[in-house]
Amino acid sequence: MRCLNCGQENKDTAKACRKCGSDITLAPAWFPDWKWHARVLAVIYACTIVFYYGVTFLLRKLPPPYQLRSIPIEMTPWLRHGRKFLPDDQLKPPPPWPPPVGNP
Ligand SMILES: [Zn+2]
Repeated sequence: MRCLNCGQENKDTAKACRKCGSDITLAPAWFPDWKWHARVLAVIYACTIVFYYGVTFLLRKLPPPYQLRSIPIEMTPWLRHGRKFLPDDQLKPPPPWPPPVGNP
């Protein structure tokens, strides 16, 4: 890198000219400001929200029985913490399998 002050050739990694000592570091061409960060975050949030609702919408379109998204509590006993005050005999039994068809 050539010094703009005296013309001395310096190493590319040098921060000051070795002949005249002037600062030869280049200012960054671009630096992100708060507007850039806000815009990028807005795009990320918007994409996340669109992706979530898109996937949710598509999952609701699945044919039976794949549209069932809740797992019976009997299959996930470690998730009972929300119902820990309910005794086992008051827990709702699992729905019949296969689910009845024809009665909307
Ligand atoms: Zn110089």
